[in-house]
Amino acid sequence: MRLSRYFLPVSKDVPADAAIVSHQLMLRTGMVRQNGAGIYTWLPLGHRVLQKIEQVVREEMDRAGAIEMLMPTIQQAELWQESGRYEDYGKEMLRITDRHDRDMLFGPTNEELITDVFRTYVKSYKALPLNLYHTQWKFRDEIRPRFGVMRGREFLMKDAYSFDLTEEDGRASYNRMFCAYLNTFDRLGLTAIPMQADTGPIGGDLSHEFIILAETGESAVFCDKDMLDLPAPGLDLDFDSDLSGEVAKRTTYYAATDEMHDETEFAKIPQERQVSARGIEVGHIFFFGTKYSEPMNATVQTAEGGSVPVQMGSYGIGVSRLVGGIIEACHDENGIVWPQSIAPFEVGLISMRPKDETVSKVADEAYETLKAAGFDVLYDETDERPGSKFNRMDLIGLPWQIIIGPRGIENGVVELKNRKSGEKSEVALEKAVEMVKAG
Ligand code: ATP
Ligand code: MG
Repeated sequence: MRLSRYFLPVSKDVPADAAIVSHQLMLRTGMVRQNGAGIYTWLPLGHRVLQKIEQVVREEMDRAGAIEMLMPTIQQAELWQESGRYEDYGKEMLRITDRHDRDMLFGPTNEELITDVFRTYVKSYKALPLNLYHTQWKFRDEIRPRFGVMRGREFLMKDAYSFDLTEEDGRASYNRMFCAYLNTFDRLGLTAIPMQADTGPIGGDLSHEFIILAETGESAVFCDKDMLDLPAPGLDLDFDSDLSGEVAKRTTYYAATDEMHDETEFAKIPQERQVSARGIEVGHIFFFGTKYSEPMNATVQTAEGGSVPVQMGSYGIGVSRLVGGIIEACHDENGIVWPQSIAPFEVGLISMRPKDETVSKVADEAYETLKAAGFDVLYDETDERPGSKFNRMDLIGLPWQIIIGPRGIENGVVELKNRKSGEKSEVALEKAVEMVKAG
């Protein structure tokens, strides 16, 4: 993308109403624009990151055997009356009446809708296990939307739903999602800690929140320091195998948010390993058995010919919240430092003298070479001062910068800068391509 033709409304001003650094940086880099309390327009740069995160989440869901679909944002009240949650959900649910006076709502989550899909089409245990997911906008009329996209009212969530014949199978599905989540957050450059959680309005008895540590996090969290060094299960994990060991490895450590915190248990950890910090919830998984299948009559036939309510779990990832969460974890005094896996562009190409014919020719060629190598490239061929071009590139945080100037051209090299380490090297363009590829 040529910057002169792109839409990147960066701004120098730190917005007064943005309390945390991720919100400030998202506004300064022109990633989002607030339209109302907790409601945002995703401008091109923000939209790219949102899509890249969505894609990583999708790949890991698919790898774990989940199947993608798409449910609507607007739902009929009837299904929620069936499950009993239409009254229970309270003021967070945005209720709407259509022109025929029908009660509708903007979906805050999708357990009811998916249970209805399941009961319509699945009749036999032979179709199980089944895991269906989508990534769709949700609306929750949060009492205090704040911190930008981290606590919005309209937000993008990936939610998956598992269906199994027995409770034991249901727990195996839960374990698959547990491991898939660890791999997902690892690919996003985050250390997410699974913590025992309260189940809230979703219900059930088994639940973990995935929390990333950040000073600006909304929850107080407590955990064992040793947990932070555990590697993710890895992309070669066999999702058809028994994953209870992988899960147990992590759940034996103490880890809880303030809601579930037990001071006596925490005190049993050696003091030097006690981490008491703040965290951001980026994912939440639940196993709730027959909480929805029973009232909604979602049953399957067993091998013996009987009929039982299906065992269900649900699994959410806050895709739009992650954009803010990742910036909280990945920034410095000059701006954002994107992990390469989800950077809006992998490479920022800067032409130092766009008016110089030789420089612009070499820079144009480099642009074509980088694109042909498969990179997303933002090519700054604008006619601004080099200083402001460098600052803008640092601010938007692309992992690599390649700078083309007359001196380098004389020596047959480009300047390659790693945004995270600040390290600069003068190398041939081919070498730079290799280094960016290696990440
Ligand atoms: P919270 O405790 O933060 O209010 P929740 O427990 O109500 O979240 P879940 O129902 O577990 O949320 O939703 C799954 C995921 O969706 C959460 O882990 C979070 O990442 C994301 N999420 C929930 N509410 C919001 C929101 N208001 N804005 C942005 N993301 C959200
Ligand atoms: Mg939650």
